[in-house]
Amino acid sequence: MTPLEELRHSCSHVLATAMLRLFPETKLDIGPPTETGFYYDVDLDHKLTAEDLEKIEAEMKRVIEENQAFTRQEVSREEAAAIIKQIGQERYKLGRLADIPEGEKISFYRNGEFTDLCAGTHVRYTKQIKAFKLLSIAGAYHRGDEHNRQLQRIYGTAFPTKDELAAYLTQLEQARLRDHRRLGKDLKLFVIDDAVGQGLVLWTPAGAVIRQELQTFIAAELRKQGYHQVFTPHIGRLELYRTSGHFPYYRDSQYPPVIERETLARLAHEGCSCAQLANKLTEGDIDGYLLKPMNCPHHIKIYASQPHSYRDLPVRLAEFGTVYRWEQSGELNGMTRVRGFTQDDAHLFCTEEQIPQEIIGCLALVKIILATLGIADYRVRVGLRDPDSAKYTGDPANWDKAEAACREAAKTLGVSFTEEPGEAAFYGPKIDFIIKDVIGREWQLGTVQVDYNLPQRFDLSYIGADNQSHRPVMIHRAPFGSMERFVGVLIEHFAGDFPTWLAPEQVRVLPISDKVGDYARELATRLKAENIRVTLDEHSDKLGAKIRRTEVEKVPYALVVGGKEAEARAVSVRSRAKGDEGVMPFETYIEKLRTEVVTRALPERKKQ
Ligand SMILES: [Zn+2]
Ligand SMILES: [Zn+2]
Repeated sequence: MTPLEELRHSCSHVLATAMLRLFPETKLDIGPPTETGFYYDVDLDHKLTAEDLEKIEAEMKRVIEENQAFTRQEVSREEAAAIIKQIGQERYKLGRLADIPEGEKISFYRNGEFTDLCAGTHVRYTKQIKAFKLLSIAGAYHRGDEHNRQLQRIYGTAFPTKDELAAYLTQLEQARLRDHRRLGKDLKLFVIDDAVGQGLVLWTPAGAVIRQELQTFIAAELRKQGYHQVFTPHIGRLELYRTSGHFPYYRDSQYPPVIERETLARLAHEGCSCAQLANKLTEGDIDGYLLKPMNCPHHIKIYASQPHSYRDLPVRLAEFGTVYRWEQSGELNGMTRVRGFTQDDAHLFCTEEQIPQEIIGCLALVKIILATLGIADYRVRVGLRDPDSAKYTGDPANWDKAEAACREAAKTLGVSFTEEPGEAAFYGPKIDFIIKDVIGREWQLGTVQVDYNLPQRFDLSYIGADNQSHRPVMIHRAPFGSMERFVGVLIEHFAGDFPTWLAPEQVRVLPISDKVGDYARELATRLKAENIRVTLDEHSDKLGAKIRRTEVEKVPYALVVGGKEAEARAVSVRSRAKGDEGVMPFETYIEKLRTEVVTRALPERKKQ
């Protein structure tokens, strides 16, 4: 263990010590360190509450204050079992003991009255734990298996110093405030409804605006780069995915196939069992349809529908293509882990010589889009093949060229990149994008992948300058992953304060009284005609309350209008970024707003 892991793991022993003092009936499972702290899984009939966490924390402080020494004792397997029984922890610890391979050392660590089966390592004394905090309680199945008993997982963290702990807790609080699931609900951006299905996002009108604006922006950039937009259906025949290799190999991560009624009736008549049906599907004896797990095969069929000459290449087909994957329910998370999502997908069919320039093009596009969104801090990861593995398809000489192309392309970005052997797909090298948001968290977006495999499986070809048939290479690219994930990340990045061009509601007109109702309506009509998303707040409550609402709902501009403004054909502008911007002629304001939207200006920093 690293010193930090050692510290955190020792803290989990202290946690278990305190648990047994407060809840002697607790059955302990395991308490490892994690990337950001530690946890202990405990089995306890009493459902732990936030108040309990405080009490446990206080008891942990006492244990630390007692400055107990951690001591190690090595024992035989039989002795270990005896100790576990003696301390009354056989429910999980005997199983954990059985996990230790024959021949490996078995050890217990003792601190004060507490003894735990553990390989180590730990700090020497409990007082070395100077800054810790218990954070939350969550349900966790024993060994992560939902058929097992659900335990309570107590999460905590520890740092070498109080300052580091304080900084981490501030960051956690920031993350909580920015949580896209919370903001998505407050700002009515998306809904996930159990009756529709877990992991299936319903984009509400406000959220749909953000997605549509992003798609319009990305689509325009793609057109500039010579991409062609296509549309393809959400399903395809199993036969297609047998050719591509997506079925049956990735069956567990897909929704089950849809089988035609007549086929089902015939199978029922034949008395076919479920197992036989599954077998027939795998063997290809019967056909059916699959909700598409990938857009590639559809795009390949568009490419293959026409003969191509080397002069036509590269062919770049783009689609905001919706795909479906069967994620485990425990893995689902708001918009960032879902079962149905729309990729900003494209497939490039090119000659081998064109690979470098095409990858550079893909990366340039990502750079433009991230810069527009104010995401300047990101890195790329170049996934290369593992030189010692035989799992990769294709000619090693081609691989060398493709890897070199990825590396060269990454260099042109002017941002840091790492090369990671073993991270390539089996069919080609790839480039991943990892962005860092304003509070320092990393998010993996999408990828650019070179593929020698699918062109071969689908027997794609083009006629070269030599009049011979050649095999094109494919590049898959979905640099932002999916619209769901990307918007989820952007909600957190902007903390809901979207730039005006993305804001679902851009301007709200606030008339001070009924007397200026006509003028206020006229302004709203005029703004609508300018394609501005505007609403009129005609509620009769006080101006202060109306202004407060625009702030809470994160509307970039509020235009306050009273008698004076109406007379002068002016507006009193309040912006989310600067507060009161004073009175200005309405035409001046429109001009300013139009510029801000057209240039996709970023929100100015809020006054602190
Ligand atoms: Zn330990
Ligand atoms: Zn693809």
